[in-house]
Formats: sequence, C-alpha cells, structure tokens
Amino acid sequence: MPSSRSAKLIALEEAYGAHNYHPLDVVVRKAKGAWVWDVDGRKYLDCLAAYSAVNQGHCHPKIMKAMQAQLKNVTLTSRAFRNDQLPLLYKKLHDLTGFDMSLPMNSGAEAVETAVKAARKWGYKVKGIPDGQAEIICAADNFHGRTTTIVSFSTDAQYRDGFGPFTPGFRIVKYGDIDALRNSITPNTAAFLVEPIQGEAGIIVPPEGYLREAARLCKENNVLLIVDEIQSGLGRSGKLFAYQLEGITPDAVIIGKALGGGYYPISAVLARKDVLGVFHPGDHGSTFGGNPLAAATALAALDVLVKEKLIDKSRNLGDYFIKRLRAIKSPHVKEVRGKGLWIGFVLDTKARPYCEALMKEGILCKETHENVIRFAPPLVITKKEIDWAMTRIEKVVQRLDMQ
Ligand SMILES: *Cc1c(COP(=O)(O)O)cnc(C)c1O
Repeated sequence: MPSSRSAKLIALEEAYGAHNYHPLDVVVRKAKGAWVWDVDGRKYLDCLAAYSAVNQGHCHPKIMKAMQAQLKNVTLTSRAFRNDQLPLLYKKLHDLTGFDMSLPMNSGAEAVETAVKAARKWGYKVKGIPDGQAEIICAADNFHGRTTTIVSFSTDAQYRDGFGPFTPGFRIVKYGDIDALRNSITPNTAAFLVEPIQGEAGIIVPPEGYLREAARLCKENNVLLIVDEIQSGLGRSGKLFAYQLEGITPDAVIIGKALGGGYYPISAVLARKDVLGVFHPGDHGSTFGGNPLAAATALAALDVLVKEKLIDKSRNLGDYFIKRLRAIKSPHVKEVRGKGLWIGFVLDTKARPYCEALMKEGILCKETHENVIRFAPPLVITKKEIDWAMTRIEKVVQRLDMQ
C-alpha cells in the first residue's frame, strides 16, 4: 500500500494529469547511480533506467558538473545564431561513430521524423524517385515513437486506434524475415527503417545475419538502411551500437535517450554527407535542437560512457545477468533473451504481478507487452548489485510459482 504521502501525490496525478500511462505506484524523490528512493525514503534498484535514457546512472556527478557550468554561461541561442558547444558535439559524434555528420533534435520521435524526411528527400533528389512516390519499409512490431507519422507505420492497434488519418508511404514487413524485405523493395523504396533489436516489442533479437543481409540488399537496390538505435545504442547492447554486433555500417543511425545522460532530452540523426546533405537552410529545424545546454550535457554523457568503459561493462555484466536468470528453475519462465544489459525475461503468464512483487522487494522494472519483463539497469550497476537483485528475483519467481 502506498503511504499517505505517496497516496496524496498519486491522487493529484490521477486527478489532474492525462492518463496516458499506467505507472507502478512508486513515487520517486531522488536517485543516484543505479538506485532511486521514494518519498518515504524506501530504496529501489532501478532495472529500467528510464527505457535506457540513464545508461550513465542517475545524477552522474560529471554530467551534472558539465551541465551546471553550462547553465552559468548560456543555455539557448536557437539556431539563428551559433554557439560554442554544438560544434564540439558534432566533432565528438563524428570521432566516436565514424559518421560524416549529424543533425541534433530533442526527443527520439523528432529524430525519427528527421530521418524520415531525410530519406524521402534523398529518395527524390538523389535516387530520382518520382515526386510523391517515395516509400519507406518498416518492420512489424516496431517502436519508433508516438507522432502521427510514426504511428502511421506502427502495427500496434492501440498506438493507432483513434489517431487516423495516417501518413501514407510506408510498407510493413515481418521483422527478421529477409525474404519479406527483398520482396517489398521497389524502385520507389527510399529506405528501410529498422531497430537492430526490437526493445518495446520485448527485446527481440533477429536471426543472426539478418541485418548483414538487409544491409547488402539495401546497397544492391540503392535503398538507405536507417537504424533506430535510440534504445539499443550507446552501450545498451554491449556495443556502442547494436548494428556492430553484425559488423555492418548503416547509411544513417538515430540516437536519443542516453545521449542526454538522463539529464536533458537530446537526440540526433547521424549519417553520410550525401544523406544529411539533402537539407538546406529552412528545410527542417527545431528551436531547442542543438542548444548549448543540450550539447554540453551530451558531450559529458558521451565522455562518461567512454571513460567509465560502460560499453564493456554492459557486455560483461549482461552475460553474467543472463546466465543467472537462465539458471532460475520455474515452469513460468519461457525464455531469457537479450544482448548486454538489455534482457527480456519471458513468462507464460502476465508480467505485471511479477513487477509489482519485485517492487515490494526493492527492484523497479516494467513489463513490456503482457508477458515480458525487461531488465535494463543503468550500465553503472555492479556485479554485487546484480547478485542482490538475483536473490530477490529468484524469491519472487518462486513465490508466484506457488500461487
Ligand atoms: C524511446 C524510443 C523512441 C522514441 O523516443 P522518444 O524520446 O520517446 O520520442 C524511438 N525509437 C526507439 C527504438 C525507442 O526506444
């Protein structure tokens, strides 16, 4: 039962906020590293990490310091003027990822919209697709955000119900099925937009070789391969980018979430010059995109990722966590899958009661779809903390087995 303090806040939220989420009833007041505290001082291990937006851990002191320093200088110029932080972020993203250039936005969905616009314009101006005919291929069960255009290519009925009419120009293929992709490419295909591992769908890892073959098909047909790494990227999968698990180089990659280190929304599209080069002054923009506070924060967030070797930690501790979870003996556990510290714990029953029981034991995680628990803690988590969590996860699974 929530305490009276948290019950009051929950009541305010329910009364005055739109009900577009169904959160667990934990009211967080502060956080540090992999831990959060509720308004009554109870402590929880965060195993969701704000959907991978806090890979660097909550309230990382180095990112905070960079942000505080920037707060005293300048926070917003708009892109009508230049600022002294954005060029440094462009250079850092180039050096870290090898992509020619980038375009900063705020939310992940905006960066996806930016990639869609770039792909269409590239289709018309570079590939020579007849005006108004460009198509983008997407995968079934994708998650790319919530704007009207993006839900136009969602296959989740709830994401679309009541939100039409939809944006045309998208085709859906089965995820992980290379023949389906091959069969749906036409001379008017501008791009294939795909998650290298589907996060919201339940940490779905496609068959080995899928992305490699998709990259080959795209190249053969002069189609852009655009990879959405908003959740999978920046260390989550045990690599800087999940596409590196297949040794490919896409034409464009979309990042967000952890780029802001949990402090500030910032996203970006990284691509080759001939792709982002289609944008000319006035074609596209955002008042807050690339502001100096965002750029300074992202610079520090990337620095922490590299200097603290969080990508290696994700890979090593992820392997360990998966091994421990697979060792749980329970008739309800169907599968444990994932890469790095990005794990789908698949049940044959509803996952919500497990999440609620785990919360009472001091572990915060969230079901994705009906029957998958996603374990995706901040990458600063330690082996000792995973062991601490495992004791409680084992206990909860065993207890619910008996019901
Ligand atoms: C979260 C997410 C988005 C949308 O990002 P927002 O910042 O919520 O708009 C897009 N694609 C993927 C894969 C995501 O996980």
